[in-house]
Amino acid sequence: MTPDPQPQENPTPLTPGTITRRQFVAATVGAAAVGLAAKPAPRLRLHIVGSGCPVPTRTRYGSAFILEAGTEWVMVDCGPATTWKMTQMKIAPGKISHLFFTHHHFDHNVDFPCFALTRWDLSHGTEPPLKVYGPSPTRAFVERLLGAQGAFFDDLNARIKHPVSVELFKRRGGKPPRPAPAIDAQDVGAGKIAQSDAWTATAVRVHHVEPRLESLAFRFDTPSGSIVFAGDCGDCESLRQLTQGADTLVIACVFIGPTKVYGDIITGTPQIAEIGRACGVKRIILSHAWPGVDAPEAKEKAIADVARTYHGTVLFPEELTTVDLTKQSADPKTS
Ligand SMILES: [Zn+2]
Repeated sequence: MTPDPQPQENPTPLTPGTITRRQFVAATVGAAAVGLAAKPAPRLRLHIVGSGCPVPTRTRYGSAFILEAGTEWVMVDCGPATTWKMTQMKIAPGKISHLFFTHHHFDHNVDFPCFALTRWDLSHGTEPPLKVYGPSPTRAFVERLLGAQGAFFDDLNARIKHPVSVELFKRRGGKPPRPAPAIDAQDVGAGKIAQSDAWTATAVRVHHVEPRLESLAFRFDTPSGSIVFAGDCGDCESLRQLTQGADTLVIACVFIGPTKVYGDIITGTPQIAEIGRACGVKRIILSHAWPGVDAPEAKEKAIADVARTYHGTVLFPEELTTVDLTKQSADPKTS
């Protein structure tokens, strides 16, 4: 926001020149405002790691996104092959400080042990704890995998205690004894659930396959814009409230046109267009493509179908690409 200088009336020149106090204040405040405007907004980029569904295709598999906000890297969902795909994108697991699960269908969480163990195994033991948030049973899910009775306990125990593993840890710069992975996992519900210097995260409960699995949608507000991750859900009031006025909405596009197959548990093009239009969203990023929606001509058809009644930007990016969402970007760039 440009500050209003509101100078006091004072016609007395401050310098031998002709400038008045009002002009001087206006000029200096104006220059400061120009300086602020010229200062680039913190980077806000969305890395598309997984934008497929439970059915693997040649180019997509499962859900995983990484939001890069300034110097912070936050993951939303950790579907199949996330760690391997991050490697292809040159994103080190150690960069990720927070992970948010929308729900616990396997196409959104199955790579979690691989990701968490790789993040730990590449470190020298001083990385900050990985903070994990999601609907119940997120805490139990993490404990059952990496806790003292967890599926990976024997591997962890060997890597912590075997002399060769300890030696490799020392060569990476670690100082024995090697600590176990530091993971802080929480079950969360609706409300403001976490924040950092770079973002604030708000969650709402959304309609997917409850009560068998709970589902959340997340909104991240940053100085460079806001972004909502709908996860897998149908069109519901809580999602609409969360999405009001958002700059970007990442949402599942599982079908094109009307369908009776999926009921109201997940979105296709008609619901996406209506949510985007009703909530005043500036851009929509389609994801969770099923094999029938994944082909180039089908993607174009999906984008066109949403754009018939929604007049913001519609993108359907490929996996292993990055969308620049920083506010001064006139049009989001995909690379
Ligand atoms: Zn699901």
